Amino acid sequence: MSDFVKRLSSFREEVFPTHSGLYRKLAREGQQPQALMISCADSRVMPEVITQSGPGELFVCRNAGNIVPPFSTMNGGVSSAIEYAVVALGVRDIIVCGHSDCGAMKGLCNHDLLAPMPNVAAWLRHSQAAYSIVCQAYPESLPERDRVRAVAMENVVIQLDHLRTHPSVAAKLATNDITLHGWFFDIETGEVQVYDGVERRFQVVAGEKPMPVAVTGRATPHIMDDPLMAAE
Ligand SMILES: [Zn+2]
Repeated sequence: MSDFVKRLSSFREEVFPTHSGLYRKLAREGQQPQALMISCADSRVMPEVITQSGPGELFVCRNAGNIVPPFSTMNGGVSSAIEYAVVALGVRDIIVCGHSDCGAMKGLCNHDLLAPMPNVAAWLRHSQAAYSIVCQAYPESLPERDRVRAVAMENVVIQLDHLRTHPSVAAKLATNDITLHGWFFDIETGEVQVYDGVERRFQVVAGEKPMPVAVTGRATPHIMDDPLMAAE
């Protein structure tokens, strides 16, 4: 721990003075982060580093497995962070970011690992669908490493589905005021793959190409398209 104490002093004395103006502004005016990022708690996945974000730019919620419990099954930290980011801060983008070599996804693939961790096991039920998809739809011969990777990617898509069940998110999607993104960070290469909701696959984003998105809002509520509604 003494290492961290030294680093605290170094931050206060060497790093902070060069950004003191920004911190003072943020303290005075409050935060207006551009996006909410829901990522794994894994120490190798650092949202601010990956996105090169500074103070005040990214609202972050981290947990084991970058999970978003569906609305109402759990009234907890993740749901509250989402609601606050969307309603109070008005973020216009939410990113769910999974990653390679994820311990939570390894637990899903090997339930014996979860035996001494009943809380983790219960939490990972929110990702069970990702595991089931890989069991049913992927080749049985898939090597363990690739299986874990596939579960982690499917898990990002499942959690995006869960996000849409949150009323604050659903309402902003209905008015086209929010966009959902699914990312996958590869620890070994530093590469981020982005989920394309139209093509339904992850792809590497390069250069000036526009970034694909997972879920976009729509300006007209679904029911307005109903011919019976239009006739009245
Ligand atoms: Zn992880």
